Amino acid sequence: MSDLPPPRICERCYSAIGRDEDHLRLAHLGWARPDGSIQWLDSFVHTTVCVPATAARETRRRHDAPTSTTL
Ligand SMILES: [Zn+2]
Repeated sequence: MSDLPPPRICERCYSAIGRDEDHLRLAHLGWARPDGSIQWLDSFVHTTVCVPATAARETRRRHDAPTSTTL
């Protein structure tokens, strides 16, 4: 089994965050265990400009749309 940490994926652009890229780690409450301890879920986001994945999807959709219509 590898000792490498799991890949950090940006919440905004869904790209892997490189080791030297600026980013934030956000901790979210996952769930409470019966013993009262908390399971935290971490997420990550670039702090530099990155294109939201939804914008890329919209651009692709516009390019796939028909360019002319017939009446
Ligand atoms: Zn990003």
